[in-house]
Amino acid sequence: MKQKKIIRCPYCGRPAVLRSASDVYKDTKRIGYVYTCSNYPACDAYVGTHPGTKIPLGTLANAELRKKRIQAHQTFDLLWKYQIFSRDDAYRWLAEKMGLPLQEAHIGHFSEFYCDQVVSVCKQVLQNNLRQHVAFGG
Ligand SMILES: [Zn+2]
Repeated sequence: MKQKKIIRCPYCGRPAVLRSASDVYKDTKRIGYVYTCSNYPACDAYVGTHPGTKIPLGTLANAELRKKRIQAHQTFDLLWKYQIFSRDDAYRWLAEKMGLPLQEAHIGHFSEFYCDQVVSVCKQVLQNNLRQHVAFGG
């Protein structure tokens, strides 16, 4: 069955519209697409797309949530960048920690509450590993 899912703004309920990233960011160097609330910029909610596609990275987010998702992603990415986990294992670990099925464990879909949880659980792991590093690394 072919179905076109309507993406809606979680803040005001209006349907989202696909716009070019350069238009939304007011930067001609930005490529690709962004979904914004159809009431944007009065309603400040948008989400980017996976590179080279029109598939949204997650749900539309306002400024506060966008900031939290970026912070959560940066903290989470350190887990596999420091090779504490492989990237796949990091996502599996996150899903388990958040009590979510793997396919739902995407920061782009998380609320502010979940983003705060991600930062907190990832920081714990990072701190434990840094401590170990200091202890064994001399
Ligand atoms: Zn909206």
